[in-house]
Amino acid sequence: TSTAASASFKASDVQIKHAENSKPKPKVEDLVFGANFSDHMLEIEYTADKGWGKPVISPFHNLSIHPGAKGLQFAVELFEGMKAYHCVDNKIRLFRPMENMKRLLSTAERLSLPTFDGRELLKCIKKLISIDSEWVPRSLESSLYIRPTFIGTEPTLGVGKSTSSLLYVIIGPVGPFFKTGFKPVSLLADPQFTRAWPGGVGGYKTASNYGPTVYVSNYAIQKDCQQVLWLFGNDHQLTEVGTMNLFTFWVNEQGEKELVTAPLNGLILPGVTRKSLLELARKWHEFKVTERNYTMAEVQKALNENRLLEMFGSGTACVVCSVEKILYNENWLKIPEVTEKKSLTKRFLKELTDIHYGKVPHEWMETL
Ligand code: PMP
Repeated sequence: TSTAASASFKASDVQIKHAENSKPKPKVEDLVFGANFSDHMLEIEYTADKGWGKPVISPFHNLSIHPGAKGLQFAVELFEGMKAYHCVDNKIRLFRPMENMKRLLSTAERLSLPTFDGRELLKCIKKLISIDSEWVPRSLESSLYIRPTFIGTEPTLGVGKSTSSLLYVIIGPVGPFFKTGFKPVSLLADPQFTRAWPGGVGGYKTASNYGPTVYVSNYAIQKDCQQVLWLFGNDHQLTEVGTMNLFTFWVNEQGEKELVTAPLNGLILPGVTRKSLLELARKWHEFKVTERNYTMAEVQKALNENRLLEMFGSGTACVVCSVEKILYNENWLKIPEVTEKKSLTKRFLKELTDIHYGKVPHEWMETL
């Protein structure tokens, strides 16, 4: 609402305290996802009394949080994941950053955390990246991962709206998601687990959606599967995979080539990569593009009739990730291998990475 937007911090108020020393930077080939952080971080505090404080960029540090803080007690906490790239023209650019700002704000509203002007947060993030610009890897396989986080800090144990909160952003270099190159994954599709449900928060990036998935991921690993294919409902609808959206490319029962993905019905996180792939595919006009519920029975039928062409996950971390096989009801379903030339998965990967690194100039990229 307009009152919420006017009650916002302003990037022009940012206070900067520079780090005295820069930490040593890891070699690009040694990067482990999410393990390295730059020299500075951004913090903005909110209290119900005073509203938003001034944004502060200061040397990276631990937080001091009351043990009764609502964020720690009840997962009044959300996060975002986005990337900046060192482009071939030596400029640093972000990929569709306002999409992440919008998703952050919609999640904040769902957690009764205060809202603000997303463009102001983006300006603060750009300032942080320009201060730590040496941390954006100069590599066409690596990027800077940006992790905005928002946490309720009110130190009282009642379940209720947090009257104080902390919005902060940490950043760090990340390597390619798959060290050994483009590698297809195996999935566990087990209907005893579900990630999200109608009326729940599957469509928001709340931290509470992630903690409970770790047990299921480990269960999948014990079954020789790398990731979880999240099913929903008695008809075993395919929703998402791990922390990615899921796409299936097949010849449908009407004999048409079709790219299908689950609809944004509240169970699915509205992925920025998902949105981008749908927009690219719809612009190509080469096959049908459909957002609808579809089931394991349909996938099995398509496999039996040799109509299933490709299946892949999409997300910021990996861009796209091919599915090799699915363990479902104790049977392995083998997904056809993507062949070098004709693969849609690889075409999407090339199309998006060319955009990310500025090989193909695109309005989706924003300079600092
Ligand atoms: N689904 C889930 C559950 C996720 O956590 C993510 C990662 N944010 C995605 C899908 C992919 O979203 P995006 O393309 O915005 O990274």
